[in-house]
Amino acid sequence: MIITVAGFKGGVGKTTTAIHVAAYLQELAPTVLVDGDPNRSGLTWARHNRLPFAVVDERAAARAARSYEHIVIDTAARPEEEDLKALAEGCDLLIIPSKPDTLSLDALRLTINTLRAIQASNYRVLLTIVPPKPSRDGEDAHAALVAAGYPTFATMIRRYKAFEDAASEGVTVAGLHSQRNAQEGWADYVAVGKEIVS
Ligand code: ADP
Repeated sequence: MIITVAGFKGGVGKTTTAIHVAAYLQELAPTVLVDGDPNRSGLTWARHNRLPFAVVDERAAARAARSYEHIVIDTAARPEEEDLKALAEGCDLLIIPSKPDTLSLDALRLTINTLRAIQASNYRVLLTIVPPKPSRDGEDAHAALVAAGYPTFATMIRRYKAFEDAASEGVTVAGLHSQRNAQEGWADYVAVGKEIVS
């Protein structure tokens, strides 16, 4: 399976999603993360060799494709319309993370309109960095996306500091055993992974 994660805006949890989806898929079969983001955030995350899957840059992607069952691709932020078409056509599932705030959702709408215009159907929106209760931002955004007919993961990724700590330690939240809420954060991505493979 080839999964591509694309963000129409920086800071929406794109790399965090690519890392954790790759960690989930690695539990099922050998998985490689291709870091196609010029910021090299995936490779930076992998710098201590503490991730449970392989990480390569796009120059090594073709070779990696032969040796791994699943490929997760982290792409550059803000793809143009043409890029989006190539991204959607080049994968089995395009994941588009978005935060549940108004500005992010407005930018998301533009991206979805482009995907509709190019008749892509293999994409799904993932709400990320969802603030805790009593905020209802996550639920409200989810209901609005579903009402608009956007393909959307049932699971939302909650906002936990553990995700930031995982990035700075070069591990996944699953690898942060003692950390508060790390297991909840991991459970969110496991639920996303189950939606992907089901
Ligand atoms: P992008 O790749 O879209 O720029 P990142 O995955 O790098 O986004 O995330 C942006 C920032 O938000 C990082 O500091 C990251 O640690 C943090 N972050 C991502 N997901 C979460 C989450 N679920 N909860 C809290 N912080 C998060």
